[in-house]
Amino acid sequence: MMLNRAQNYSAYIVDGEVIFSGTDPWYHYRSTMYVVQNWPATMPFDPWTNFPYGTRSGQFGTLMDQVFGTIALIVGLGDPSAETVGMVVLFAPVVMGALAAIPLYVLARRLAGRIGGVTAIAILALSSGLFLQRSIVGVYDHQVAEALLQVTSVLAVMVALSVAERDKPVYEQFLEPLLDAKFGERKDDVSAAWFLGRVKFRGERDLLRGEVLGYVDGGFGRLLDALVEAVGREHVETGTRVTDVGIADGRVESVTLDDGEERVEESDGVVVAAMPNVLESLTGYECDVDFQGALCAVVTMEESLTDTYWLNVAHDAPFGALIEHTNFVSPERYGGDHLLYVASYVQSLDDPLWQASDDEVRETWLSEVGSMFPDFDRGSVSEFRLARAPRAAPVYERGYLDLVVPYDLATEVAEGVYYAGMASPAQYPERSLDGGVVAGYECADRIAARASGSETGARASPRPGD
Ligand SMILES: Cc1cc2nc3c(=O)[nH]c(=O)nc-3n(C[C@H](O)[C@H](O)[C@H](O)COP(=O)(O)OP(=O)(O)OC[C@H]3O[C@@H](n4cnc5c(N)ncnc54)[C@H](O)[C@@H]3O)c2cc1C
Repeated sequence: MMLNRAQNYSAYIVDGEVIFSGTDPWYHYRSTMYVVQNWPATMPFDPWTNFPYGTRSGQFGTLMDQVFGTIALIVGLGDPSAETVGMVVLFAPVVMGALAAIPLYVLARRLAGRIGGVTAIAILALSSGLFLQRSIVGVYDHQVAEALLQVTSVLAVMVALSVAERDKPVYEQFLEPLLDAKFGERKDDVSAAWFLGRVKFRGERDLLRGEVLGYVDGGFGRLLDALVEAVGREHVETGTRVTDVGIADGRVESVTLDDGEERVEESDGVVVAAMPNVLESLTGYECDVDFQGALCAVVTMEESLTDTYWLNVAHDAPFGALIEHTNFVSPERYGGDHLLYVASYVQSLDDPLWQASDDEVRETWLSEVGSMFPDFDRGSVSEFRLARAPRAAPVYERGYLDLVVPYDLATEVAEGVYYAGMASPAQYPERSLDGGVVAGYECADRIAARASGSETGARASPRPGD
C-alpha cells in the first residue's frame, strides 16, 4: 500500500523544496509549522485563509497537524528545518492510509475471521476512488486522518461493547445493585430521566479531586443554632405540633398548635416544610408522590471497620450502604470513637426489616457486617442507635416532575400557604439538606415579593454562595 502511494514522491520535490498537491495541504503545512515552533500549541488563527481578513482555524481540525508537528520535532531532534517538516508531512497521507489497514484488518477479522481480515485490506489497498486519492504522497489533508480515526473508533466501540457483554461491568455489576438497594421491587418504576439527572448532578465533580464533599464543622446543629439566634429564640417554638391551618376567604388566618395543650394563633401565612402528607392533613392539598421508608443506625465502635468513607453494598445484604463517618471527619472529634452509619430503605412498611424490633435489626445488621468483615469485633461496639423514618425519600417514578408541589400554593389552596418540604422542586433530582435550604429561600423570595406588592417573585434573599 505504501509503495503504491509513495512512488510518485519525487514529483513533489522541486529544486530541493517540498511542494504539495492543491491548496489545503499548504494550509496544513503552515499549521504544522506553527506546532513545530510553538509546541504543543496549535494555530488558533490563520491570516492566509480568507485572505486578507484571516480566520479562526480550529474548525479545520488541528489534531493531525499537532501529531505530525510532533513527529517532525522528533525526526529533527527538536529543531527540524522547514524541509524536514515538509518531507514528514509529504509522506503523512501515505502513512495514515497504510495505518488504516491495521484497525480495518482487526475489525474485519473479528467479524469474518482471518480470511475476512485479509480480504478487507486487499479491497482497501487495491481499490481506486477517494480513499486512494486522499492517501497518496503530497495530499496532506485531513480526510485520510478521518478515515483512519473513524475505523479505529468503530473498532474501539466494537471492543468496548464485547467487553461490556462479557463482563457486564456497568449496569449489572454497579448500577443494578444500587437500584436494588435503593428502590427494591420499585426499581422498574423509577424514571430514567431522574436517573440521568442524578448522575449528571453527581458527575459534576472536580477532575483531580473527585467528588468534593462538604461537612459543616461541628454538624448541622451549628447552622440551626445560628438560625435560631438570627430569628430570635423567643420567635421559635419546638416540641409543638401544628394540627390545623385556618383558612377563610381564600387566605390563611390562623394556625392551631399543640404542645400538650391546643391553642389557636393568628397567622397570615404558613410555610409547610414537612412531608406532603402533613401538607394534605393541614390544608387538603393532595400530592401523589410516593415515599419509601428508611432505617438508619449510628454504630459507635472502639475500632475502625474499613478505610472507606462510603461503601455501597452490591450483594443482597439487609442494608444498602456502610458509611464510616470517622474516615471523613477525624475520630478525635468524637473522643476517639469510630462512627459507622448503616442505612437501608424499605419500600413498604410491611417489609420484614421495618417490622423487626430494634434488637432484631441490630442483630441482623451486625452479623452481616461480621460476615463481610471477618476481623470485625462485635465487642468493640459500644452503642447502636437506630432511627426509622416511614417517609424518608420520594420514589422518583416516571412523571415525577408533574407531581412536585409548587412553592406558592395561593392558587391551589389559599393565599399565604407555601411549601418547602421534600416534594418541592428543589429536592429533585437529589433530596438533600441543601435542597431544604434552597426551598426555604424560594419560599422566602415569594413571601418577600408578595409583602412588597410585587407579584414578579423577584429574588429578594441571598442564596448559599452569594
Ligand atoms: C438514609 C438517608 C441519608 C441521607 N443522607 C444525606 C446526606 O448525606 N446529605 C444530605 O444533604 N442529605 C441527606 N439526606 C436527606 C436529608 O436528610 C433530607 O433531605 C433533609 O433532612 C430534609 O429536610 P427537611 O427540613 O425538608 O425535612 P425533615 O428533616 O423531614 O424535617 C421536617 C420536620 O417537620 C416536622 N414536622 C412534621 N409534621 C409537623 C407538624 N404537623 N408540626 C410541626 N412540625 C412538623 C418533623 O418533625 C421534622 O422535624 C439523607 C436522607 C436519608 C433518609
